[in-house]
Amino acid sequence: MAEIPDKSFKRQLHVLLAIIFVAVIILGIRLITAPKHKTGSSGTREVMGTFCRLISVAPTNSINDASIEAGYSELVRIDAMMSDYKPESQLSEVNTNAFKESVTVSIELMEVLTTAKKYSALSDGAFDVTIGPVVDLWREAKKKNAIPTKQQLAEAKAKVGYEKLILENNTVRFAVEGMRLDLGAIAKGYAIDKAVEAMKLAGATAGFVDVGGDVRTFGKPPTKKHWIIGIQDPASEGGILLTLKLNDMALATSGDYRRYDEVKGKKHSHIKDPSTSQSVTKLTSVSVIAQTATIADILATAVSVIGPEKGLAMIEAIENTDLIMIPADQQQDLIHTKTIRKYVDNTQPPAGYTTVSQLLKQQQEK
Ligand code: AMP
Ligand code: MG
Repeated sequence: MAEIPDKSFKRQLHVLLAIIFVAVIILGIRLITAPKHKTGSSGTREVMGTFCRLISVAPTNSINDASIEAGYSELVRIDAMMSDYKPESQLSEVNTNAFKESVTVSIELMEVLTTAKKYSALSDGAFDVTIGPVVDLWREAKKKNAIPTKQQLAEAKAKVGYEKLILENNTVRFAVEGMRLDLGAIAKGYAIDKAVEAMKLAGATAGFVDVGGDVRTFGKPPTKKHWIIGIQDPASEGGILLTLKLNDMALATSGDYRRYDEVKGKKHSHIKDPSTSQSVTKLTSVSVIAQTATIADILATAVSVIGPEKGLAMIEAIENTDLIMIPADQQQDLIHTKTIRKYVDNTQPPAGYTTVSQLLKQQQEK
């Protein structure tokens, strides 16, 4: 006959079971409520002569750390390759030697130059990375405080033209002496795309990369439906013109409000029209939303040159691209694509869709 355990042992067993039961429940609740994703931030860092910020969402903090460093390394790597300010960059090597001989370049530089040429053709030459001689001429004008002469403008123009840039296999050659490539209107976007790629590879499930206000987001933020990205207000330092809901899209802004060549007290935009060698004048700022930061960067510059009407028509004709621009004439309304409304975040104070002069007035009243 089996031995019957005494009453105190039974009681102890019940207490133990009760404790285990409660512990399992607490652990279960913890597991359910614990955040499945952690968020990491690079903080503000410097790259490409501006500030950048990377945000990474991943299951663990160590994945976030790795993804942020991988993304930031890409920004630094692409800058070192494509900067025209750095004498040791691959781009500088091309600028020095490509008229004398074909220069072999990296896959990345070839990809950027091939994409640049494609969009030069699409924009009828408004976007053109061979703009270097014109940029140089205006840099000189700024230094000497003297407007370039007609002859100087014509001479610079003769050295510009995407059709004079010869890309073959993995080599680059210039058809005209004195040509100079300037990737200022595309390299930032390309670097952002490369950084996003590296972050995903490192295990990030979501995040964004912001370099000087140009941004690309990927995945969903952990607690909200959308990433909320602000378009900078050219009229106020650090001010936001409009906030956008932007998931898996990129935003780039080109403007004449921060970078310009001042000559004889007049500000000349740093964006030049390749057909005249003159600075563009019609738009204060152009923001483009596209699927990649490279395309957004290119198109924002292209529209700045093309101007409001034709620029709007061009963007309306390209799938999955949107645009909002501020005309230089402050009495005019903001101009935007019809479909941009789907991105506008209505939960924020409505800043947009008024005239720039109204915006300025609102700010003065604040
Ligand atoms: P973003 O700020 O992207 O519009 O780029 C402007 C920079 O691109 C300028 O500072 C120049 O270095 C270069 N750039 C100027 N005009 C043009 C143009 N028409 N096409 C391509 N790049 C340009
Ligand atoms: Mg650009």
